[in-house]
Amino acid sequence: MESFQIWAVGRNYADHAKELGHAAPTATDEPMIFLKAGASAVPQGADIRLPSWSRDVHHECEIALRFGAKLEFTDFTVALDLTARDAQARLKAAGHPWTLAKSFTDSCPLGPPISLTRLVGGIDSLTFTLKVNGELRQVGRPAEMIFKPEALRAYLLGRFPVRPGDWLLTGTPVGVGKIVNGDFLEAEIPGYAHASWNARLSPL
Ligand code: ZN
Repeated sequence: MESFQIWAVGRNYADHAKELGHAAPTATDEPMIFLKAGASAVPQGADIRLPSWSRDVHHECEIALRFGAKLEFTDFTVALDLTARDAQARLKAAGHPWTLAKSFTDSCPLGPPISLTRLVGGIDSLTFTLKVNGELRQVGRPAEMIFKPEALRAYLLGRFPVRPGDWLLTGTPVGVGKIVNGDFLEAEIPGYAHASWNARLSPL
């Protein structure tokens, strides 16, 4: 896989912000941006190696958008912003950055890129879903994003070294939860993208 960076936004769906005990931001607030290592990406069909140092790795199913040559969005897919929730709670309490919780090895399962030229009706017309072992866990509607993709793009380009080929994860809807060794995860944007992964405990 070529090298790229993965930018991500936290708390972009009100129902998810509330399920984690936060007030939802509004579109005039500053978005909360973090990075996941590009090398943490896991292509569709591969195993996700779950870290042995966390007992609470959560799925966060999200729409991902890829930056093209002119830093416009050119592709989209479905991705998982895997989060070690126990580490995140510890880091938050200490006032520390979230890197361990968000950017660990295999923390970004990423579906196949789909050209936005194939998209009928715009991002807001989509839904996306995550099933774990066949059970529906998350349903997202990008129309409910607090910070819209173009607003996030403008914010990022004004502040960060975004490069062609980078991805933006646009936030997760309500329904995040734990995944464990042996789980089968299927993320889908019906009509466009389908990706699946097996979760395995890491030998690391
Ligand atoms: Zn997320």
